[in-house]
Parts: sequence; structure tokens; C-alpha cells
Amino acid sequence: HLSKQYNDASAADLTIERNPVVKPKPDPSTLVFGKQFSDHMLTISWSAAGGWEAPQIKPFQNLSLHPASSALHYSIELFEGMKAFRGVDNHIRLFRPMLNMERMYRSTERSCLPLFDKVELIKCINKLIEVDQEWVPYSTDASLYIRPTFIGTEPSLGVSRTGHSLLFVIIGPVGPYFATGGFSPVSLLADPRYVRAWRGGVGEYKMGGNYGPTIAVQSEAAKQGCQQVLWLYGENEEITEVGTMNLFIYWTTEKGEKELVTPPLDGIILPGVTRQSLLDLAREWGDFKVTERRVLMKELIDALDDGRILEVFGSGTACVVCPVGSLLYRGQTYQIPTMKNGPEIAKRFHKELTDIQYGRTQRDWAPVI
Ligand code: PMP
Repeated sequence: HLSKQYNDASAADLTIERNPVVKPKPDPSTLVFGKQFSDHMLTISWSAAGGWEAPQIKPFQNLSLHPASSALHYSIELFEGMKAFRGVDNHIRLFRPMLNMERMYRSTERSCLPLFDKVELIKCINKLIEVDQEWVPYSTDASLYIRPTFIGTEPSLGVSRTGHSLLFVIIGPVGPYFATGGFSPVSLLADPRYVRAWRGGVGEYKMGGNYGPTIAVQSEAAKQGCQQVLWLYGENEEITEVGTMNLFIYWTTEKGEKELVTPPLDGIILPGVTRQSLLDLAREWGDFKVTERRVLMKELIDALDDGRILEVFGSGTACVVCPVGSLLYRGQTYQIPTMKNGPEIAKRFHKELTDIQYGRTQRDWAPVI
């Protein structure tokens, strides 16, 4: 019974144990994604018998897990990826954090992990960031990456709903996605033999099990000289996502209209916070048609052949937008003129979103913590 599990961990019960040793902060220009962590972490334990325990902020440390823990055997694991930004006014902002909490909640339901209170969790995360606020880079090119994680810690091997779990949050500074400052386009491998997610599966949830199996495909792409994988689906080769980003195509339709198109949220695509934000902005601008619909590989290739493609880019928390420069498909390399076209739309999105994130534009999308 989900309702029986639902007794909220409350931010009001949060305890803080300060780390007596604080590490030196790395120079933002030397940051490598996901390698540096702050001095503290947040943990919240749950058991079927006792419900949620009081949230704890404590020194960053290893976990101690029973070797039968269900996360280790059956991938009962989910996570989120979000960022905090130090604004030009020195205030620290999150970006649409409730969208991450809602996605995490959906992943939690699908994993049969205990439901949590989204507002209480974000309050606890805010507190963690406040404790480690000096870890939020003093830079408008860098940010603090936030990794909420939820694992099953049931100490038994039965494949069943976990009776023990641990929700934890670790944070660490990350640098700019594009080292040179400007955009650099990525090359993609589109190979229909590989599938990331399928209808009826769990591709729309941010579960660890969706990511481990992509590493071999990513290395295959690298072997073929490509930087990322363009994930296709089904007999008709629907275009779904690119690497760990959602995909956008800005083109001229066969009818001659300018259109921004992205695949729909139909179960096989992760509902990106950046994706939603680009759609919201583009609809507010009203400068071109904005469409969520299935796009087939054939349509993309035909449009490339016709010279109708203006820009192709990925969207995600890591880069905001990432231009695509070429595509390797069935042994043929297709050049994509994204950079030649500015990329006008990709740059506009990047500027609008980073202006909001770093407090140069005020908007309720970026609440100050
Ligand atoms: N697709 C996948 C598979 C991802 O892992 C991510 C990163 N969370 C995204 C898309 C982009 O989502 P967001 O904009 O929320 O970072």
C-alpha cells in the first residue's frame, strides 16, 4: 500500500553535522564533470517498519551497504541531475527545481520505492547547498551540479518491493560544457541496431538501469569517430534522443514554414527540464511553428538532402543546448549546417536560459535559495 508508506520526511526535522575538515575549492577552469564533491551530503533513510527517518546533512562520506542490497542486484536505483547557479547579484538560484522533483517522484513510483514529499525534499536540498554555499562557483561559466539519488537497500535477494531504502544527495562544482567558451558542434552515430528505450519500458524515467547499457554503444560511436549516439527506435527509425540530451530540429517544412520540432513525450523519451523550457520559450516568442511530434530518420535525411535543415541541437542540463555538426548513418556521413546558420536559434535559447539562471533576467523559473 503506497499510502501506508507515505509518512513525510520533513525538512523541519533535519539535523546538521558539520564537517570539521573543509577541502580546498578547485579552480573553476580545471573542473571535470562529476569528479569533485563538496564537504557535505544529505541522507534520508526509509524502512517499511519505521517510515522516513529525519533527514541528515553530514560530512561527505562512503556509504555502508549490505552486499545483498537491492540496488546492487536489481538496479532499484534512480537519480536526478540539476544545477545551482551563483548569479551576477551573488544570489544562488536553482532552475525549475520542481520539474526535477516531479520527475524524481515519477521515477520513484515506477521503482516501487517509497513516495516522498517534493517540497520537503527541495527544502532539504536548499539547506545542503546553503551549508556548502562556498562550493557554488563564483563564475557565470560554472555551476554546482546536484545529484539526488534514491536506492533500494533491502538486504535480501528476493525480486520484490524494497522494504529499506536510502535517498541521498551529493553536490559538486562543474565547469562550462564547452571548454573554449563558444559552441562546438558534436558528431553523431545513428545505428538502428541499438535501442535505448522502448514503448512500455522505462525510458521516460531517470533510472540508473537506462544508462549503464548505453556505455558500450557510446564507445562504439567513439570507435567510429563520433562523439554521441543518436538513438533511433522501431522499424520506421524514429529519432528519439541524442546521448543524454533531448533532440531539436529547426527546419523549413515541405510547405516552406519555419518550424522547431522535437519528439513527443510518448514513453520512450526522458522529459527533459531543458526541453520543456525551450518549448515554453519558443511558444512565448511566437516567431516560428513549434511542434512535438514523431520524426523519422528518413524525414531528417530528406530534409538534409533538400537543404531544409537549419539547425539540429541537443538540450540538457549539462550544456543547455549542444549543436550537432554531422551524422554517420548507414556508412554515410551527413554534414549538418547548424554552425553555418549561427546557430541562431540555439544561441538565442542558450542566452535566454543562462540569463535566467545567472540572474541577469528575473523569472520565477530560477528561485533564489
Ligand atoms: N535525455 C536523457 C536520456 C537524459 O539523461 C537527460 C539528462 N537528464 C536529458 C534527456 C535532458 O534532461 P534535462 O534537460 O532535464 O537535463
